[in-house]
Amino acid sequence: KRIITTDNLEEDIKIESHLRPQTLKEYIGQEKAKETLKVYITAAKQREEPLDHLLFYGPPGLGKTTLAGIIANEMGVNIKITSGPAIEKPGEMAAILNNLQENDILFVDEIHRLNRQVEEVLYPAMEDYAIDIMIGKGATARSIRLDLPKFTLVGATTRVGMLTAPLRDRFGVVHRMEYYTVEELEDIVIRSAKVLDVTIDATGAHALARRSRGTPRLVNRLLKRVRDFAQVKYDGHIDEEVANYALDLLEVDKEGLDQIDRELLEVLIFKFQGGPVGLETLAAALSEDSTTIEDVYEPYLLKNGFISRTPRGRVVLEKAYVHLGIPHKNDEK
Ligand code: ADP
Repeated sequence: KRIITTDNLEEDIKIESHLRPQTLKEYIGQEKAKETLKVYITAAKQREEPLDHLLFYGPPGLGKTTLAGIIANEMGVNIKITSGPAIEKPGEMAAILNNLQENDILFVDEIHRLNRQVEEVLYPAMEDYAIDIMIGKGATARSIRLDLPKFTLVGATTRVGMLTAPLRDRFGVVHRMEYYTVEELEDIVIRSAKVLDVTIDATGAHALARRSRGTPRLVNRLLKRVRDFAQVKYDGHIDEEVANYALDLLEVDKEGLDQIDRELLEVLIFKFQGGPVGLETLAAALSEDSTTIEDVYEPYLLKNGFISRTPRGRVVLEKAYVHLGIPHKNDEK
């Protein structure tokens, strides 16, 4: 398993519940989202109404679920957590909605993966707090409308482009999650170290933050791994030396790339002369799923200028050659 995958691994689940901040104040970064949410939450509370439906989109591990939990906490309401693939039938969605209490939050992760019939239950639910139920069969069939408690839907997705227009249009607020800066990740890892009761100094925090690809889930996971090294090999304290030692062993390099990233870049360079190469061809060369490449590997490489996307396919950029120590074709002239 890739240590730098931003997916939620088994090993994260236990620890994440401890490390999740509970209030907006503790939630680091995403300043724009926090500012606007504060206003919405205050206003909704004053009116004693539910919040507008919210959609968060962006790569995994950036704090969408955490933020939904915080909103519920700040609103003083319950949160029910589910996901697109978990709800298979319209009746299941109707039952979930019907069991909510007034002003509760329903969090639907991977909301782009809801099937069409389930999604259609959400339309009247989001718009009018109601569901339409068909009774009877054939010529005598008719639909009756059932009122629901007022609620807030918080949707999360890594692929906002895959949402249907009718669903997307029913969200009052749509927010794109940003990658975190190294400084923000330092703050997160220092806070997490306190919760986990390990000591980390500024150099150690910096080393971890730099290799965490802008992602809180990753900085926490690296902290957890490095903590083991620190405990066994050093005296339990994490500084730059321990962090670097452990991360080198885990093969996460100074730019936060792991073997798979480096392999992707090397395949582009050696097999395809640096590109351009189409996604499917690249996927075949790496024996990987093209969606995985697009959703998991590429965003970080794109964002950090190792590769770029052109109409004719992916191309490797100068920075990748420099980082891997491979002479660039322009150098040879
Ligand atoms: P997502 O839902 O976007 O995949 P999560 O909300 O599950 O991401 O976040 C992953 C982990 O990262 C959480 O357990 C939490 O500990 C940490 N985290 C995320 N965002 C923040 C933040 N802004 N401040 C502190 N910790 C965070």
